[in-house]
Amino acid sequence: MAAPRELLKDALPLVTGDAGLESTVIEARGRRIGGTYFGLVAGPCAVETLEQTLETARAVAEAGATMLRGGAYKPRTSPYSFQGLGSEGLAILREAREETGLPIVTELLDPRDLEEVAETADVIQIGARNMHNSRLLTEVGRVDRPVLIKRGPGASVDELLLAAESVAKEGNERIVLCERGIKTFEPRTRYTLDLGSVALLKRETHLPVIVDPSHAAGRRDLVPALARAAAAVGADGVLVEVHPRPEEALSDGPQQLRAEEFAAVAEEIAAVARLLGKQIG
Ligand code: PEP
Ligand code: MN
Repeated sequence: MAAPRELLKDALPLVTGDAGLESTVIEARGRRIGGTYFGLVAGPCAVETLEQTLETARAVAEAGATMLRGGAYKPRTSPYSFQGLGSEGLAILREAREETGLPIVTELLDPRDLEEVAETADVIQIGARNMHNSRLLTEVGRVDRPVLIKRGPGASVDELLLAAESVAKEGNERIVLCERGIKTFEPRTRYTLDLGSVALLKRETHLPVIVDPSHAAGRRDLVPALARAAAAVGADGVLVEVHPRPEEALSDGPQQLRAEEFAAVAEEIAAVARLLGKQIG
């Protein structure tokens, strides 16, 4: 049985509060997510080569993205899949930032890599698989970098809020939450995008809440519709995977948008966000 609301509120002193559409604003290199600022985070699933990353970074910057995402350390279900370029991938992300000015969002998998990842990341991503890793949450709670926490596919809203509280408790309250789909009985999409929980989170927490339609859908044809819906439900941003040649991608090829597809949907998302009184951050 679910714990009574009052008990949970007591357990979440830092991340809950009277939330409406307005939320805390998180800033990285002058780009903002939260409050009236809508974040457009875009980029490849994984950093594969310098050329692929720069090509994507230029394209998403041109299309109005506010931050560049890309995994250097990749959590993979199979140990035989591409695991990411690691340090070399971080260096490529720095080049992409140098050229486009976009802040970098990249995932931290292991506390042992924290110092290295924090040197490059403007926003540290904690992936869905690691949302329950309390040691990792404690560590990122002690660094001076915004943290983006992705909801685990089997995690409840309260568990996500408790993960955020674990970071905030260590002193770092620059946190963005991300809904990226949960496991349900429905096999036709990779996960089920839980927009109801986004609406709920917007009422329960002052932290910005963004939506990742790419991992939720698992297929590119559904991404634009889900991204528009995310903006309409009141999310503070979206995180979208983009690859110049998705058919050659080393991970998550089927769900990555081509650059021109991202440009088209970015315009639509911005229009929906403006309708709700927001501006692109
Ligand atoms: C990702 O953002 O590339 C990723 C691995 O996502 P998730 O942690 O949501 O599966
Ligand atoms: Mn991915």
